[in-house]
Amino acid sequence: MAQLDVQQKLAILADAAKYDASCASSGSVKRTSRDGKGLGSTDQGMGICHAYAPDGRCISLLKILLTNSCIFDCHYCINRKSSNVRRARFTADEVVRLTISFYKRNYIEGLFLSSGIIGSSNYTMEQMVEVARSLREDHHFRGYIHLKTIPDADPELVHRAGMYADRLSINVELPTVSGLKRLAPEKSAERIEGAMAGTKAAILDTADAKKRYKSAPRFAPAGQSTQMIVGADAATDGDIVTKASALYDTFGLRRVYYSAFSPIPDASTVLPLQRPPLMREHRLYQSDWLMRFYDYTPADVVAAADATTGMLPLDIDPKLAWALKFRGSFPVDVNRAPREALLRVPGLGVKAVGAILTARRWRRLHLADVARLTVSVAKVRPFLIAEDWRPVALSDRAELRPVVAPKAAQLELFAA
Ligand code: SF4
Repeated sequence: MAQLDVQQKLAILADAAKYDASCASSGSVKRTSRDGKGLGSTDQGMGICHAYAPDGRCISLLKILLTNSCIFDCHYCINRKSSNVRRARFTADEVVRLTISFYKRNYIEGLFLSSGIIGSSNYTMEQMVEVARSLREDHHFRGYIHLKTIPDADPELVHRAGMYADRLSINVELPTVSGLKRLAPEKSAERIEGAMAGTKAAILDTADAKKRYKSAPRFAPAGQSTQMIVGADAATDGDIVTKASALYDTFGLRRVYYSAFSPIPDASTVLPLQRPPLMREHRLYQSDWLMRFYDYTPADVVAAADATTGMLPLDIDPKLAWALKFRGSFPVDVNRAPREALLRVPGLGVKAVGAILTARRWRRLHLADVARLTVSVAKVRPFLIAEDWRPVALSDRAELRPVVAPKAAQLELFAA
């Protein structure tokens, strides 16, 4: 096989990394200096993605795999052993040099590094640790590093990875043990969760030591995250949010990412032929948001789903779906209701509820005051009472959904 240069490897290994949703990625602006003006180029943005740092800043990351070869054969993965794709592999030193050169040109603020498994889990993990070590110790790299840990790698290696990386992640892949057994037979839910538990313990230990000794080293200060594939197995939305909630509670995860299964070239026959609607992924992110910031329990989200299929509706958001099912909890009085009740009103976000609680200390709020805090007052009206508003006709209406659901838009016939 012809030797690939770094540029060719970058094209293959950045493309292979796009299936990993553990950092929110999007395209970058194309810039080039081929016309002789300026310095450098983003080379069509190959490998550059955007993610959110723990303090909320949007940062650009070089997002690549160390290699897309793998000894495992997970059915949903384009890099699996039996997949017929062009393979490439970076050396640790090549990744370090690429990261430094992108960083110096101000293209990126950090590195997201994942990998297929070459040789053994430990060997692959050692290479990834070496990248992070060299960046931190040899080059004094202060940028963000997110390392995807390798399933079954020695806990000692994972621990070393956490001493250099800002964030560690390991994918649970599928929401049910049976799904994992069927689609990733070489992986074990028990071992994956064991690795998460080890990472959680190390994060807590070092955070505790840091409180007592300023010089104590930091371990993965941006915490750990994971990813679940949606639509590759029969798990319902209810199963997925219940699993996600258990992961947040048990392992103190910063984020669970949901990735709609996307049919890959040469897909295994055990996979569904079609990808799930992307809206399903979006509804799961909204439900996740409700559980993290709006005090919804997984049972609330399950209750918002269709009782027969266990799936959330695609045409309305889960908060509205819950409100329409539990009409007895509404209308809520904007001048009296506690924060938790206001957070359940469709159309009112956390910020709007905060503003309402502050403003009502000084005066009684009218519907127009609430309208200034929401995108759609039509959505809010049936669910609340204000000084000059009581939704008598609306809340008595048997079929409220057509009033508050977004209007279906006609798709353009020739849209791309
Ligand atoms: S271990 Fe990772 S890279 Fe290898 S086949 Fe499974 S999902 Fe793909």
